[in-house]
Amino acid sequence: MQLEPQAFDRVLSSMCTEPHPVAREAAERFLATNPGDPGTYPTIAALEDDAIELLGEIAGLEDPAGYVTSGGTEANIQAVRIARERAETASPNVVMSASGHFSFQKAADLLGIELRVVPTDDEHRVDLEGVRASVDEETALVIGVAGTTEYGRVDPIPELGEIARSVDAMLHVDAAWGGFVLPFTDHEWHFDHAPVDTMAIDPHKMGQAAVPAGGLLARSEGLLDELAVDTPYLESTSQATLTGTRSGAGVASAVAAMEELWPAGYRSQYVRSQNNADWLADALEKRGYEVVDPELPLVAADVPTSTIDALRAHGWRISRTGTGELRIVCMPHVTRDMLASFVGDLDRLEVRASVPVAGDD
Ligand SMILES: *Cc1c(COP(=O)(O)O)cnc(C)c1O
Repeated sequence: MQLEPQAFDRVLSSMCTEPHPVAREAAERFLATNPGDPGTYPTIAALEDDAIELLGEIAGLEDPAGYVTSGGTEANIQAVRIARERAETASPNVVMSASGHFSFQKAADLLGIELRVVPTDDEHRVDLEGVRASVDEETALVIGVAGTTEYGRVDPIPELGEIARSVDAMLHVDAAWGGFVLPFTDHEWHFDHAPVDTMAIDPHKMGQAAVPAGGLLARSEGLLDELAVDTPYLESTSQATLTGTRSGAGVASAVAAMEELWPAGYRSQYVRSQNNADWLADALEKRGYEVVDPELPLVAADVPTSTIDALRAHGWRISRTGTGELRIVCMPHVTRDMLASFVGDLDRLEVRASVPVAGDD
């Protein structure tokens, strides 16, 4: 095999990034370990305990329960599964914002649960009145997003907690992307801010760990027990994960990254990324585009499709929101130089796009 992995120098669309050097080194060292079989691989199992301790510290939770998942998708599916197991009704429902991640669609499909989707308000956050109107006695779970995939917005988590409790439902926070930047903001998003039961928080996104390293946190071991099945032929007796064999590389790299970067390294990365997002938003606004204010390091702007296509043809990896806006995620590998070069290309291509082509009417 001759292919080299793609470079990150034109990647503005990814929620993953280059692993931190210590994370890469740890991933390579633990490549041949399987935390899914902790009796046989006790070293990586102990490292996973460290990972959960560290994630708990980041998410305001003492004595956290949880495990390192394959990503936010698995964490979200498992959170819905816990809520379904806890529900005292045969036909439970889950209430979530329209800005919720598509992994909840998968969870609803797999678990046979009704997903009630509530529209967002003008600020791209879930509409609380809509949530109040959607919950009922059969609601098992209310989901809040802390750092939405499209706009980087944070739902009002404490208020969602109140609504959830009013109908005896659980509260899940999806901080898969936002969890490693939110600690440095004023947002209320974690276990110590609200009656959060479970959370998705991914080291392999803003945490700079190697893929696959997601995180599921639960307020108590009892919640995780809802997922446990017996494992007759393993040295351990039960398993709460969705996958069986898992990547020890992901677990080890998550611990290495968090030990290296929490909190000072993540804080300075957040500041760099946020400054870059603010700079880009400003540059786009000056050019007359309508920009969604970047509350976290993610910029959306109403750049026309033709320009987006031209930028893509120039090698830029860029994505679009559901309503078609250009969407740029300021991950750690995204530097100011990259953004300046991107804006330079935008200027050149936009000019060309607006010059009428001969014979084109
Ligand atoms: C990326 C993301 C997910 C899915 O995580 P994967 O690691 O891709 O499975 C879920 N929720 C949010 C908010 C995300 O940004």
